[in-house]
Amino acid sequence: MNLSDDQVSAVLLGIMQDGGLPHIGCRCSRCAAAYQQPQHAAYAACLAIVDKRRAHSEVWLIDATPDIKWQVDMVADELGPHPRRPDRLRQPHGIFLTHAHMGHIGGLPQLGPEAMAVEQLPVYATAGLVSLLKATPLWQPAVSRLDLKPMAAGEPVNLAPELTISPLAVPHRDEWGVGTVAYIIRGPRRSLLYLPDIDAWEQWPEAEVTLSAVDVSLVDASFYSRAELGGRDPVAHPLVIDTVRRFAHVPGQLVLTHFNHSNPVLDRNSPERKHVIKAGAVLASEGMSFRL
Ligand SMILES: [Zn+2]
Ligand SMILES: [Zn+2]
Ligand SMILES: [Zn+2]
Repeated sequence: MNLSDDQVSAVLLGIMQDGGLPHIGCRCSRCAAAYQQPQHAAYAACLAIVDKRRAHSEVWLIDATPDIKWQVDMVADELGPHPRRPDRLRQPHGIFLTHAHMGHIGGLPQLGPEAMAVEQLPVYATAGLVSLLKATPLWQPAVSRLDLKPMAAGEPVNLAPELTISPLAVPHRDEWGVGTVAYIIRGPRRSLLYLPDIDAWEQWPEAEVTLSAVDVSLVDASFYSRAELGGRDPVAHPLVIDTVRRFAHVPGQLVLTHFNHSNPVLDRNSPERKHVIKAGAVLASEGMSFRL
């Protein structure tokens, strides 16, 4: 990771839908290539916030994905050595969860006693998700090592001077009734919306105003079009063609992320990828960073 000193950045540590690339059991050409050659693989959606304004960098993650061990390694230099175990990395300063789907919490067991064995790591989530994690015995070994912090929608959490993160409730498939949030991160210079999962733009009337009020919007781009789904509508995601039509004109940068393995924008030379770029949107890539 090559981040400038003395500034705050948001860094993409993963850009895929929950199952990642390759997708388990998938024989499509993209997944086949990724199984054969790891350079074609990509991690589940994750964003790091890195504050390098002081002697020791501070690192927060948004979501704990099934790829968390690789994603923590991507920010190894920023985390620095563990205070008592020099051959280990320092734990992140905190993790902010968006919701309870496996691509967003599936990495929590890696924080438990069999793996990173974190010590009272602050993990922020909706009050409902905090209760669900605490009430699920299967999660206890990892959860007992976390300092779970329930958040109220819209209420900012102060991370550092001139650096806040605010959860924003969004409609998304909600099996346990614990809600889904997007986050707005405000740094000393710029603001960023991180919204990896939403069911449909029509169900979120604040969408236009919210995307128009930030410098960068990183949004759900799971599926490109109905063609990819055999003509069906997606169960719980907007379509890229519609997202670009709605929001390519917003004053800030529109960045697409959380791609399903089936999404043709993943192919370097696809007409779909060219269409998105021509419309003025940006396709997320691992390691892409945004100054905040
Ligand atoms: Zn997801
Ligand atoms: Zn596939
Ligand atoms: Zn989801």
